[in-house]
Amino acid sequence: TDAYLGMVEKHRGLNAYITETPDLAREQAKAADAALAAGTAGAMAGIPVGIKDLFCTEGVLTTAASHILDGFKPPYESTVSANLKKAGAVMLGKLNLDEFAMGGSNQTSYYGPAKNPWKAEGSDADLVPGGSSGGSAAAVSARMALAATGTDTGGSIRQPAAYCGITGIKPTYGRCSRFGIIAYASSLDQAGPMTRTVRDAAIMLGSMAGFDPKDSTSADIALPDFEAALTGDIRSLKIGIPQEYRPEGLDPEINALWDKGIDMLKAAGAEVVDISLPHTKYALATYYIIAPAEASSNLARYDGLRFGLRVEGKTLDEMYARTRAAGFGEEVQRRILMGTYVLSAGYYDAYYLKAQRVRARIAEDFRNAFKTVDVILTPTAPTPAFGIGANMDDPIAMYLNDVFTVPTSLAGLPGLSVPVGLSSTGLPLGLQLIGRPFDEETVLRAGD
Ligand code: GLN
Repeated sequence: TDAYLGMVEKHRGLNAYITETPDLAREQAKAADAALAAGTAGAMAGIPVGIKDLFCTEGVLTTAASHILDGFKPPYESTVSANLKKAGAVMLGKLNLDEFAMGGSNQTSYYGPAKNPWKAEGSDADLVPGGSSGGSAAAVSARMALAATGTDTGGSIRQPAAYCGITGIKPTYGRCSRFGIIAYASSLDQAGPMTRTVRDAAIMLGSMAGFDPKDSTSADIALPDFEAALTGDIRSLKIGIPQEYRPEGLDPEINALWDKGIDMLKAAGAEVVDISLPHTKYALATYYIIAPAEASSNLARYDGLRFGLRVEGKTLDEMYARTRAAGFGEEVQRRILMGTYVLSAGYYDAYYLKAQRVRARIAEDFRNAFKTVDVILTPTAPTPAFGIGANMDDPIAMYLNDVFTVPTSLAGLPGLSVPVGLSSTGLPLGLQLIGRPFDEETVLRAGD
């Protein structure tokens, strides 16, 4: 813990942490020592982790990287962070993210962007760590935490993991409780571990996940021993390669990385076959209707009365409007506008309802594919990490980065990103493994 607290201090310039909790960490480390001595220690005993600042932590500032939650100290703990605590984990602090997890580069954070510890060869320019769990990925990559929690609505664990050269898994929707995680899009949000290795991810996921009566969408099914699934043997596995993920104009480096991944799996004895996921091309548009729709509803609670910031006005309505105008950043306001629009009478059928229908088709594509294959392999993101400042005035360009991660989210499936190679400029690149519902074991085994 002391060593990691030292790294947190040393690399403060990366802006990975919004809040540091060194005193709490030392206290928890002592308790873990005692548990280890008494033989009562859990699987995470003494492991220093960072917690994405979207998880409510009792008595510890929780911001969602938004101005509107100024000074908010939750009176309760999220189930996932409580589970980690129970397993003995030590919390080093709360990690930076895109405001309310809306973004793919950490640049919408009210606290300024976290920076990627990696730099392109021969360049000193700062790069984004990806997002929204950018602080988590940067911290694990720079050894400012041994592991971190992330959340993933449309790629926010997998894409930053790829950009920072680490491992991250979005479990099946329902595997981890959403209780106490500040909501973005409730039918998509899912917590997961961000770690250096697949084995670490398996261990940490085992401590985070499990049924929780406080989340009605949490799945009441047995929790497997994820680490035991890492047998090193993938000879019986059938891996699918979806042709729709190879659009014309895909970066040749990403294509080559994908081929490298295929060769690695083949060399380990897996069978690789082409598959088709025909509705893939609609996934991005579908996601950017459903996620903002749910967000516009979830964010209605920030009214200046109950949480954080309040900007006074002459009337109640004026207070609401002023608070929300001052408290929400540009991207969050854009999402609320989009979401309110697609849910409004007259547009609901044309956009929201249609998106829900397409979502069902996308899930059906995956169900059909998983009749013949066990795991699907794709790139995690279409590019390596880009420069801070890039794509900021072009939201569509930013959204296009999520093209390979959102279909998995819409279908609720587990998706793992593993680091597989470097770009010609020396930046990390990741591949994504997608599995059947609640079959994280096979995904982790193939990733390992
Ligand atoms: N980049 C996507 C978005 O902005 C995904 C974010 C996430 O998974 N939280 O919605």
